[in-house]
Amino acid sequence: FTRPDRFSESGQYSKARSQPIKSTQSQHVVMDALKKRIRTDVEFCETDGENSFLVGDLGEVYRQYLQWKRELPRIIPFYGKFKFQIIIDKSAVKCNPDPMVLKLFASLGAGVDCASKAEIQASLRAGISADLIVYANPCKAASHIRFAESCNVRMMTFDNAEELYKIKRLFPTAKLLLRILADDSKSVCRLGLKYGAPLEVTCDLLQLAKELGVDVVGVSFHVGSGLWDASAFIDAIFRARRVFDEAKAIGFDFQLLDVGGGFKHDNFQEIARVLGPEVDKYFPAHVRVIAEPGRFMVATAFTLATNIIARRTVKSIPDEINETDSGDRSFMYYVNDGVYGSFNCILYDHTHPLPRVLYHNNSFDHDPAAPKKVKCSIWGPTCDALDCISDKCYLPYALDVGDWLVWENMGAYTICAASNFNGFKKSDIIYVCSESAAERLLIK
Ligand code: PLP
Repeated sequence: FTRPDRFSESGQYSKARSQPIKSTQSQHVVMDALKKRIRTDVEFCETDGENSFLVGDLGEVYRQYLQWKRELPRIIPFYGKFKFQIIIDKSAVKCNPDPMVLKLFASLGAGVDCASKAEIQASLRAGISADLIVYANPCKAASHIRFAESCNVRMMTFDNAEELYKIKRLFPTAKLLLRILADDSKSVCRLGLKYGAPLEVTCDLLQLAKELGVDVVGVSFHVGSGLWDASAFIDAIFRARRVFDEAKAIGFDFQLLDVGGGFKHDNFQEIARVLGPEVDKYFPAHVRVIAEPGRFMVATAFTLATNIIARRTVKSIPDEINETDSGDRSFMYYVNDGVYGSFNCILYDHTHPLPRVLYHNNSFDHDPAAPKKVKCSIWGPTCDALDCISDKCYLPYALDVGDWLVWENMGAYTICAASNFNGFKKSDIIYVCSESAAERLLIK
């Protein structure tokens, strides 16, 4: 079995997913929640009692937000796109979780970026004000534009002439951001194939906007998600400045720059060191600068626990690197979340998640450095052979049906795109909060 992998550059990123990289504070709180929730009596528990679940630490989201404010004080974060689904799990949560994450952003005065009517609705319901929502989908359905108008969500992006005509017809007083094409070649998930006006057409688009009398107020871009080279922002800022100047010549007075997403927990500081000064150099203080960070805010805050529901022993070719006492045996483990569920990130976000053992031999205590490791593969629960989470990893010899695995950094591009294929439930989410300041905000 080989997994299609068009983005080998993502190796560095995928490694990060296997290790807990959140704060020690968060690790403790999350571990407590995992221990409390997992069923160790899977032979006898009620149907679905052993289901996989995510623990989301809102305190970790809060800390990411604070880090943002510290390192990029001029740039207002508009939380990028609802990177996880908010599911009510009344049984296990301290307080009502449904609007919690959005409520956290609302109470912090942060905005959100929305892709659709449903996301706008959820944001408004959570208390985010209409002027802190950017409808950042350059190709919108007509009825969604009308909906945005009905709730006064005026800020929206466009990148082509047809969209301009549509907005002129449906929402002529909207405040538009021209999404320009950025160099996305330094990112894992490239977006430029689909969106972004190349610099050759920006002048014509602005001329057209002038003729139509629609109000373009600034520029947006996205350097691609999972960026590994901060210099992409230097180039994008340069392009944005050029379009600001073009706009001035045509008679617009741009006041807004949206630097999009692309931020990760492991290179955020490096990006901030590049982006902050670059913005200050090219854009005077009166220009409002916003961003749409998605992954950065939530990736580390969510941890997934899966149960081993089945195991198959197979013949294996002896491994030269890893000494095992398993002879020529290898194991295929089947767990109860897969690529049609939270692990869709393998297909869509080009990641290679790796687990740690959470519960084995009736115990939570495992030495991750324990020597006897055996080669195995890990599979999701559906009947599709594509549903492979890891075609090769090393786990202690030998895990049993009923044991639990834990997967770190599962907050971004995971559960939000999960399906119920083959009748399997999506993983539930339990919310915890490892930061008392955030908890106070949430219960206010
Ligand atoms: N904004 C827009 C328009 C996007 O399409 C995305 C991701 O696809 C984001 C923001 C979030 O990007 P990231 O998770 O890289 O911060």
